[in-house]
Amino acid sequence: MLTGVDTGPEQGFLLEFLSAGIVHADDDLVVRWANAAAHAFVSRPPGSMVGLSVIGAFVDRRLDDLVRTARAGGSASAELVLDPPDGPTLVVRARRAPRDGVWLIMEDVSELRRLQRIRSEFIDNLSHELRTPLTTVSLLAETLSREADAAGEAVPARMRERIARIEVETGHLVQMVNELLDLSRIESGGSPARVDDVDLARLAQATTERLRLFAERQGVRLVVEVDDGLPPARGDEDRLGQVLVNLIYNAVKFSPDGGLVTIRVRRSGDELEVSVADNGIGIRAADQARIFERFYKADRARVRGGGTGLGLAIARHVVTGHGGRIWVTSTEGVGSTFFFTLPAAVPLGGAATAGGASVQ
Ligand code: ADP
Repeated sequence: MLTGVDTGPEQGFLLEFLSAGIVHADDDLVVRWANAAAHAFVSRPPGSMVGLSVIGAFVDRRLDDLVRTARAGGSASAELVLDPPDGPTLVVRARRAPRDGVWLIMEDVSELRRLQRIRSEFIDNLSHELRTPLTTVSLLAETLSREADAAGEAVPARMRERIARIEVETGHLVQMVNELLDLSRIESGGSPARVDDVDLARLAQATTERLRLFAERQGVRLVVEVDDGLPPARGDEDRLGQVLVNLIYNAVKFSPDGGLVTIRVRRSGDELEVSVADNGIGIRAADQARIFERFYKADRARVRGGGTGLGLAIARHVVTGHGGRIWVTSTEGVGSTFFFTLPAAVPLGGAATAGGASVQ
């Protein structure tokens, strides 16, 4: 069955039972072997692909390109929806074979993507429904609180306290609903991200200024250090500013009185790198892997209250949507540094950090 491939009959027999599609194409991009699942993805009778070109077998240019890329470079992967438009959604990984041609592994993720879509739509609808009444309640609470303050002793102190609590908590609810809407908009790519040249050094400085008063109130000092002469990044300035706000806001929130938060923008290899370092409570190793998930909060953060657990999920979506990476290094009780990278608008030529740094 495995024409031209040195695989034992037992293995070949087993591969037929996999739900993943497996295909071997030779160096001329002719299908030499394909299991039953691969045939099922394109509704072909088993065995009928053998001898056809990859493009003839799958009628998909992207798949053909993927195989060519793997043949030239060793490996490639992509997610694609096969024709017709409601065909299966496949994650395809291609690897050059040690001796001849390319192996393809195709996983059907249609059901997973469908469930993700339903979940996103549900959250989106719910947030929309909640937003209007919550905004009204929040405005009423604000007015009530102002009136209670103005009335002075005419309103008992305990009642004023409770009204103030209602105002704060509704504020949290409004923020949570707004962040949920933001996240679902970013996830679904609903509002197309603007793509401009973004001066990250200037953006870091401007964002820091916006948060300086908040930081001072917590007794935390903010310092910005930027490399001179950095090229711009390509992206949506508002969204990238939002990432910076989330990171700096967290750094301040989890810092002690007298803490220091350092925001750096520099070049790293052929990318631009932004980091936000604090000497705050730090994050346990077990939590570090999960804090970028939506709603995830480390236990110690829960004790501190506030926050929705969505800020880092939004940050991750924005950064990866810009072709960058985001990660954290942290030691409990010592502090955390959040990093994200973005491709530069013009090639940096792999140069190491160059030029001086200006400190503000
Ligand atoms: P939020 O801050 O609203 O809870 P985030 O998604 O921004 O939500 O952060 C998720 C969790 O990651 C926080 O609840 C906290 O446990 C942890 N975290 C984020 N930034 C820091 C930081 N600078 N220091 C310590 N913990 C942090």
